[in-house]
Amino acid sequence: MTKCLQVMRMALLTVGAFAFAIAVHAQERSVAITIDDVPNVSLFAADGQSSGLLQKLDSLNLPVAIFINEGHLKQNEHFEQNRKLLESWISRPYVTVGNHTYSHPNYGDIGFDAFKDEVVKGEELTRKMAEKAGKELEYFRFPFNGMGKDSAEQARMQAFLTESHYISTPFTVESEDWLFTQLYEKALREGNLDEARSIGNRYVDLTLKLFGHFEQVAMKVTGRPVKQIYLCHDNRLNTDYLPALIQKLKEKQYSMISLADAMSDEAYQLPLYYHGNWGFSWLYRWVKDPAVRRSLMQAEPSDKEAQQAYEALTKSKK
Ligand SMILES: [Zn+2]
Repeated sequence: MTKCLQVMRMALLTVGAFAFAIAVHAQERSVAITIDDVPNVSLFAADGQSSGLLQKLDSLNLPVAIFINEGHLKQNEHFEQNRKLLESWISRPYVTVGNHTYSHPNYGDIGFDAFKDEVVKGEELTRKMAEKAGKELEYFRFPFNGMGKDSAEQARMQAFLTESHYISTPFTVESEDWLFTQLYEKALREGNLDEARSIGNRYVDLTLKLFGHFEQVAMKVTGRPVKQIYLCHDNRLNTDYLPALIQKLKEKQYSMISLADAMSDEAYQLPLYYHGNWGFSWLYRWVKDPAVRRSLMQAEPSDKEAQQAYEALTKSKK
């Protein structure tokens, strides 16, 4: 065989192996859906004391984990109805329960003692409701996914959480749904339904691109597919577009798994190499070399137009 043919044969073998790897990995796509900042009491009040998202989830037949801010119950004058809303979230058999602090502070801003109080205050009702539903309250997620300013602060809070029997909950994929929902709700308020629909579709499209991106990052960082954890929020956008997103993910052969199943992936035992307070994906935190991490982050798909519209919106509100 000539050198040239040999090279071609090697190339074909590599392509073949790669295609095989993709085919195998396509079977292995899985994700746990996690919803933060539950319950959204202003949406609940605006919709006549009903949660559209909870109703949609009832018919989607998949496990979800929720991260609760009990402080939300007092955000308006309907405490009793809000309390019942939280109880109905927690009582759903498909729901895994998590604490997300009482009032959603950033640990890096308020320090150890104040944050510790927030963790404890955040579980008062939730723990009782979880017990009543026959569930454990074992998951915790940091607001903004900020785990502290430096490794000492991070280790100190981690020790407290472990001592309190909490599992600190990571995520791998998120898609700025908190930003899109602001634009979406503005369009709805203005009666601009075409614009609202376009924003909803762009949210779904971007999220799918991000799943593709993080699949690749997982391959680069761990050498294999990782059981993904998607982070989104209890908001109007997900009420209307999470079902479409789930459908598209299923079309991409994703299976919807519980948070416990996702976290059984050994990837979640990998050491973290990032010890700042930014709230980015755990896939990036597992990267040792900061330059490699930066280049992976720079390759992340984004929707610049939505970001600019959001900036303009927040400026006009000031
Ligand atoms: Zn949050």
